[in-house]
Amino acid sequence: MSGKPVFQRILLKLSGEALMGPLAFGISPDVMGFLAHEIKGVVESGVQVALVVGGGNIFRGEGLAHAGMDRVTGDHMGMLATVINALALQDAIERVGVPVRVQSALRINEVCEDYIRRKAVRHLEKGRVVIFSAGTGNPFFTTDSAAALRAIEINADLMLKATKVDGIYTADPKKHADARKYEQLTYDEALSRRLGVMDQTAMVLCRDHGVHLCVYDMERPKALQAIVCGDATIGTHVR
Ligand code: UDP
Repeated sequence: MSGKPVFQRILLKLSGEALMGPLAFGISPDVMGFLAHEIKGVVESGVQVALVVGGGNIFRGEGLAHAGMDRVTGDHMGMLATVINALALQDAIERVGVPVRVQSALRINEVCEDYIRRKAVRHLEKGRVVIFSAGTGNPFFTTDSAAALRAIEINADLMLKATKVDGIYTADPKKHADARKYEQLTYDEALSRRLGVMDQTAMVLCRDHGVHLCVYDMERPKALQAIVCGDATIGTHVR
């Protein structure tokens, strides 16, 4: 596979849980360091990189609501958790020498920029990684929906969803030995088979706006680089 990227602008969705690594809660410095190097490689090959980060390693509104908390308050806590993760990611990526800007869909001017689409695109054009935090800024949504929304807004050529398995399977490959990996899928197939790639709101947004999605194994070294260089054997592509 040649080292020349075939995608110019990507949006990578990282779940909060992805940042935990082997920990039961919080952020693993090892995972952050690994991700920072993977992202640096892609940026240095000339690809514009935007990130959307989740917050499930800290708080999820739904979980807090189950424990009796007001759902909207829980979602606000969840969104703020994504800002914490975004700041940690910003730090890790800047430590490997790549400039980063965090933008938030909720106003927290002292710690990061507000989400302004045109400003985000300008940062990307200048080679800065942009991390979109606080989801959509609205309760009752997920960061998968935020990722779909931002990918569409910034005209990303490819949206990637980082997971712990190398794509979408007919069943959970960790529980079913006969589970088969899909190389490619349409959104309608993924929706009708209830494959649980992302929540339905995110899937429908992606489908209706023609987002090219790749679900891949974030723990595989250089997978991100190979995907942006057009290696279609890695992960599952949904269109
Ligand atoms: N959240 C929200 N609106 C959004 C995105 C996220 O209210 O647009 C809240 C919601 O409570 C969610 C939490 O933030 O549970 C963390 O996001 P998510 O569960 O998507 O994180 P991930 O599963 O990717 O770690």
